[in-house]
Amino acid sequence: MPILVQKFGGSSVADSQKILAAARKAIRAQNEGNQVVVVVSAMGDNTDLLIDLAKQITDQPPAREMDMLLSTGEQVSVALVAMAIHSLGHKAISLTGAQIGIRTDSTHTKARIQTISTERIRRALDEGNVVIAAGFQGIDESLDITTLGRGGSDTTAVALAAVLSADACEIYTDVDGVYTTDPRIVPEARHLRQISYDEMLELATAGAGVMHNRSIEFAKKFGVPVHVRSSFSDQPGTMIVAEPEIVGQAVCGAAMIKNEARVTVLGVPDRPGAAITVFRKVTAKNVPMDMIAQNVAADSRADISFTVPRDELPHTLKAVEDAVKELGAEGCDCDDEVAKISIVGLGMATQPGVAERMFRALAEKGINILMIATSEIKISVLVAREYAAEALRTVHQEFQLDQEPPAKVSGTLRVPLADGTRSVPDTMVVARMEKMEKLIIEEVALDESQARVTVAGLPDIPGLAAQVFSEIAEAGVVVDMIVQNVGRQGHANISFTVPQKDLERCLAVAAEQADLLGCPPPASCPRVSKLSVFGVGMKSHATVATRLFQALAAEGINVELIGTTEVRVNVVVDGRHGEKARAALLAEFADAMG
Ligand code: ASP
Ligand code: MG
Repeated sequence: MPILVQKFGGSSVADSQKILAAARKAIRAQNEGNQVVVVVSAMGDNTDLLIDLAKQITDQPPAREMDMLLSTGEQVSVALVAMAIHSLGHKAISLTGAQIGIRTDSTHTKARIQTISTERIRRALDEGNVVIAAGFQGIDESLDITTLGRGGSDTTAVALAAVLSADACEIYTDVDGVYTTDPRIVPEARHLRQISYDEMLELATAGAGVMHNRSIEFAKKFGVPVHVRSSFSDQPGTMIVAEPEIVGQAVCGAAMIKNEARVTVLGVPDRPGAAITVFRKVTAKNVPMDMIAQNVAADSRADISFTVPRDELPHTLKAVEDAVKELGAEGCDCDDEVAKISIVGLGMATQPGVAERMFRALAEKGINILMIATSEIKISVLVAREYAAEALRTVHQEFQLDQEPPAKVSGTLRVPLADGTRSVPDTMVVARMEKMEKLIIEEVALDESQARVTVAGLPDIPGLAAQVFSEIAEAGVVVDMIVQNVGRQGHANISFTVPQKDLERCLAVAAEQADLLGCPPPASCPRVSKLSVFGVGMKSHATVATRLFQALAAEGINVELIGTTEVRVNVVVDGRHGEKARAALLAEFADAMG
C-alpha cells in the first residue's frame, strides 16, 4: 500500500478546529488507499512561548533542559491530533520521537538524526492506524530528549518519508506553496507549480523561508518528492522534485536576506594558506559565513570579504582582528547596513547574459552593488539595506517572474529517486540513513578552459558592474564566474572568468573601460583552473570552505578567486595546478563523496 507522510506546521494545528481539519485530511488520505503518517509541530507559537518562559527564568538555560521543555510542544499536538482522529471514528496512535526511535547525536537544540527505526511505525500502520509522529524531536544515546533546531519538524517529516520509502511527503502550511519571491514584499510574486531541489536549496537560505533547508537536503538525497501545500484549501501546491518539467526560464525565483553584515579583511598576503587563517578563526566561533568573495590584487595582496548574519558581527570582528594580526594583513573593515539579493534558476547555466541583466536593472534604479558572487544557478549581490526591498522588486520585474513561463508543462509528474527508481529496499535506506546528516559531496568538477580578468580600483558607484559586463557581452564574450569585492580605499574590485579563446578580446574591452573609469589597467591570467565543489549539506557543514582551502594550501596551491553559494564552493587557481588541486580535493572529501 502506498505510504503518504503529511506534515502539519504550527499554524495548521493552532486551535481545536484546525486540529480537526488536519485530522480530516489524514483520514481522507487513508480512505483514498494510503497508509498515512502525520508529523506535527507544536500548536501555533507554542515553541516561542516556551522559549520566552525559559528566558523569564534565566538568560542561559542549559541546552538539555531547553530540549526537555521544547519537546513538550509537539507532545501536546500529537496527542490532540490522535484524539481528533479517534473522535472522527478512525484508528490513530501518537508517538514521541523516542517512541518512534529517532536517534540523534547529543548536540542539544540542534541535534542531527543518526538513525530511525521503522518497525514500530510499520506495525502501527499495518494495524490500520494513522500514525501521528511528534516532529522536531529525537533521543540520544543516553535516552535524553533532543531537538533538531527551529523548524525541525520538516526534517522529521522528510526523514520519515525517506526511511518509509513514502510516495510523497506533503508539507501543509499557511501558504499554498513556493512563490517566485516573498509575496509580502513583492505582491506580484507568482505561485510555482514545480521547482527543483537545487533551486529550492539555493532559495531557501536566500530568505524564501518556506522550508527548513536541511529537510530539502534530505529530500534531495533520498529522492523524496515534497509537496508544499495549504492546510486551508485543497488547491495543489508546489512540487519539489529532482527535475521540474518547466523549462526555458532562466530565473525561477528571487530572494533576499535583509540583515547581513559585510566584513572585509584588507591586504592579506597573497600566499597559500592565508585565507584559511581567516576562515578557521571565524568558523571556530561557530559563525556561519555566507557570501565569500576573494579577489587577487595587483600588489600581490588579496582582499577577502564575506557576510555574516548581522547579529554575529561583534563576534566575528574579534575573530577577524586576531587573524589580521597573525597574517600581517593591512586591517579590516565592515558594514552592518547591508542585505543580500539573489536570483536563482537552473536555466542560468545555459542562458548567457543573466548577470548583466540583473546588474543593469539595479543600476537603472541607482542601486549600488557592493559585492557579487555567482554560481552555476545563482547570482547574489550585496546592497545597502535601505534599498533591499526595491532591489528585490526590481529583479523580480526584470526577469518577468510574475508571468507564467511560456514553456510546456506535461500532465504527469516524474518523481524518480536519484538513482532513477522509486522504490529502494529498507535495508538500503537504513544503511544510507547513517550518512543522513552527513555532508555529501556530489562532485569536484574541474574546468580548465577559462582565463581570468581582474579590474581593480573601481569607484564605488552604481552602474559600473552593469557597464563593464554589458560592454563585454557586446563583444560577444560569455562571462562565467563573477566575484566583486570591496577593496582598499572603498574601491571595488571585480574579477571574472571567460573562455581562454576570448581573453584578448575581453581584455581590450576591459582596458578601455578601466581607462574610462580612471582605474589601473586590468590584470589577467591566461589560463586558470576553476574547481567547483558541489554537494548537499554544505551550509549545515560550515567547515567545507575551510577544509577546501586547507587542502589546497597543503599542496602549496594559491586560491585566486572564491565564490560561494548554498550548494557550491567555487575556487579559481592557477591553470597549471588544476589536476593537482582536483586530486587534493577528492582526497580531502573522500569520506563525503556520495
Ligand atoms: N515547533 C518547532 C519550532 O517552532 C519545530 C517546528 O515547528 O518545525 O521551531
Ligand atoms: Mg513552529
